[in-house]
Amino acid sequence: MWYFHGGIIKINTVEEKYILSIDQGTTSSRAIIFSPSGKIISKKQEEYTQFYPQKGWVEHDANEIFDTQLKVMRSVLKETGISPEQIAGIGITNQRETTVVWDKTTGEPIHKAIVWQDKRTAEFCKRLINEDYESLIRQKTGLPIDSYFSATKIWWILDNVPNALERAKNGELLFGTIDTWLIWKLTDGQVHATDPSNASRTLLFNINTSEWDNTLLDIFGIPGDMLPEVKDSNDHFGYIGKELLGANIPIEAVLGDQQAALFGQQCWQKGTAKNTYGTGCFLLMNTGSNPVLSENGLITTIAWRIDGQMTYALEGSVFIGGAAIQWLRDGLQVINDASETEALAKSVEDSNGVYVVPAFTGLGAPYWDMEAKGAILGLTRDTTKAHIVRATLEGIAFQSKDLLDAMEQDAQVNLRRLKVDGGATANAYLMQFQANILSAEVEVAAVSESTALGVALLASISLGLITDKELIARLSKGTKYTHKMPPEEVKKRCEGWKEAVRRVLS
Ligand code: ADP
Repeated sequence: MWYFHGGIIKINTVEEKYILSIDQGTTSSRAIIFSPSGKIISKKQEEYTQFYPQKGWVEHDANEIFDTQLKVMRSVLKETGISPEQIAGIGITNQRETTVVWDKTTGEPIHKAIVWQDKRTAEFCKRLINEDYESLIRQKTGLPIDSYFSATKIWWILDNVPNALERAKNGELLFGTIDTWLIWKLTDGQVHATDPSNASRTLLFNINTSEWDNTLLDIFGIPGDMLPEVKDSNDHFGYIGKELLGANIPIEAVLGDQQAALFGQQCWQKGTAKNTYGTGCFLLMNTGSNPVLSENGLITTIAWRIDGQMTYALEGSVFIGGAAIQWLRDGLQVINDASETEALAKSVEDSNGVYVVPAFTGLGAPYWDMEAKGAILGLTRDTTKAHIVRATLEGIAFQSKDLLDAMEQDAQVNLRRLKVDGGATANAYLMQFQANILSAEVEVAAVSESTALGVALLASISLGLITDKELIARLSKGTKYTHKMPPEEVKKRCEGWKEAVRRVLS
């Protein structure tokens, strides 16, 4: 059952047409050209400046983001020799929550963009929590009150830039997350819009009604006139002007980065999930057409709204994923390179009773213990570095399993297959162990750029270049790991892990 595009789709498989994905990330701007069926043709990327004006503050220059983005779009076209007329459409995916406020008339931002990592509004958030707003806000938005999300960042700009609040009330200022800023710039100020996956990260969007919420706007003191129109994720978002790329190209898909990766990993049905193994691990599970409020401190978010139909997701993260491998390299100095860990892990029969709990920065869902510290447990005289390396890899997998267990419980589903991507999926030992303890299949993405692929596929389907069914038949399949560990062994290992976690809780 494919719940997007229920109607009949006009198929127009013109071979020489392509999709251009804009992948605007936290450290770089990227442009990737895809074939309609999701094959990467070419990509370009450029890093841009990170500003750290004070401890805990992180800013970007919104103009630099636009300039670097335009530059890589032009250069990927030039390099491939693909003409702008051959680009059937554009998909945009972006770092989420990062906040830009700009002057509607001049187009100039009134302050640097405040990045999702920025903690300057932590005190304001505490105040709102003390005023008992948490349960109301979680109910409406699916989110906890946290400086991570956009609302308090907008409040800060309006409160700190002279006359900003007054000007916002007069309708002179616009707000946008990075998708909205890029759309506005690319359409020469014609379109001020976002999609529900991005809107659902602002703390201002009611995920039940799929609208901006006046009660929330009042709580955060934000004039509603500043907000963008919320269109479907696969809506038409206007045209990129001829003067920018040499042809008028339509913007046909918009998704926040994690939701785009979920889409790119084809987690289109309820109960499917993806995990990205990078520095941390990022997990999302599609929970279908109803929002699930977590009992385990997970975030409820909108995955996408396609042809008016909402799909929701549960989201959570493991703070220390691949970073545990960096610690083996830079802290313990038992390896020179992350890639050595696979052979070392396989050089021993088992982890010899050793558990590594990499709670270097506390433990997140489902434990939520920020005071917890990391630990190596079960050491004996015959423990070798290979055992510790193996147990560290297993620690990454166990943490991901804890999160997935919580998601399965919240969503009342039974996960059969986990789609995975990110740097650490190169490690076959880690992937096999993950499959074993999940008692599920683990499938590594064939196309490494799941995020950019997600919006390329959504644009491609929206434009009728390919149907979702054809797409599934044509997309390349990744490496699969099937579980091989006997159930008693899985149980024993998971109990050992739980006991190890119990010892590190504060
Ligand atoms: P990010 O996007 O967060 O920078 P990447 O997806 O590039 O992360 O993945 C890099 C992370 O993966 C690093 O933390 C690194 O230690 C880990 N990593 C890379 N290769 C391996 C490997 N073969 N085995 C285990 N971990 C690895």
